Amino acid sequence: MSQPAAIPVIYVAGIGRSGSTLLALLLNSHPQICSPGEMAGYKRYRARHAGLCSCKASLHECPYWAEVSRRMAGRGLGFAAGNWRIDYRIGANYGLWRLFSGPLGNGQAERVRDWWVRRLPWTAGRVRDLERRNRALMEVLLEMSGKTILADTSKNASRAGFLARLPWVDLRLIHLVRDPRGYLASQVRRGGHAQLRPISMSRATGTYRRRFAEVRRVADSMDPARTMTLRYEDLCADPPGQLRRIAAFASVQPWPTWPIAYRSGDHHLLGNPLTYRPGDGIVHDERWKRELSAEQVRYVMARTARARKFFGYE
Ligand SMILES: [Zn+2]
Repeated sequence: MSQPAAIPVIYVAGIGRSGSTLLALLLNSHPQICSPGEMAGYKRYRARHAGLCSCKASLHECPYWAEVSRRMAGRGLGFAAGNWRIDYRIGANYGLWRLFSGPLGNGQAERVRDWWVRRLPWTAGRVRDLERRNRALMEVLLEMSGKTILADTSKNASRAGFLARLPWVDLRLIHLVRDPRGYLASQVRRGGHAQLRPISMSRATGTYRRRFAEVRRVADSMDPARTMTLRYEDLCADPPGQLRRIAAFASVQPWPTWPIAYRSGDHHLLGNPLTYRPGDGIVHDERWKRELSAEQVRYVMARTARARKFFGYE
């Protein structure tokens, strides 16, 4: 039997509040790219949460995702709206998940662990099941869109690592980033951190550093030609220029001439529908400049020096 062709996948890795919903919409506007948003979203996709699709319907009510479920069932795969089981999570609880499939803080340790997880009988079965379900879902989404490349903006590094190890995935990784000052102000504003107290700032900058390192470990293990970095600020300042970069990186034809109607049409985007507002233009969010004090800026800059230097945020 001949080997079926690998599925081209563009994976957007990074941290929240960095413009990934905007990027998902822009990617989806390309005639060859199908971007359903964040394909992995363990807790959010459970049935008890309403309004999970960007069309405002819950996943079991949205006709688009109902059709996806129907086609998955046609392939013999149960695919309940609230329980897709495609996230790369091995283990029945949080502790086991961290151990078997979460970030360990060290690339060598993660490679050894991942090798064993694919071979130990009781975890290998789970990995094979995840592979089967992910492959079927990607094929169904491409089949329904009539497109050839899938873009997944799930952001987490563990999923990037999982996809990078699959022989049937032709992976290209976009490391999407945002100025740490903008990230921090956004986190604080949304109520994730009640006030700009030192402990909250410490937590937010800690997350920023950790997520940076997690994505870099995956990116550094890949062919450099298969990875690119993209700054949220550059995407807002020059969308057509950044789309030209992405098209060259992904080996696809250039986007149609800017402006493109990336927000019009029938979207059923997964992930963070709260940030999806039809009709909005691209607005570069620089509110941190008036929201953070000089002292807070100094603190963030000092704590995120490695990531900042890497991405050129001075
Ligand atoms: Zn929908």
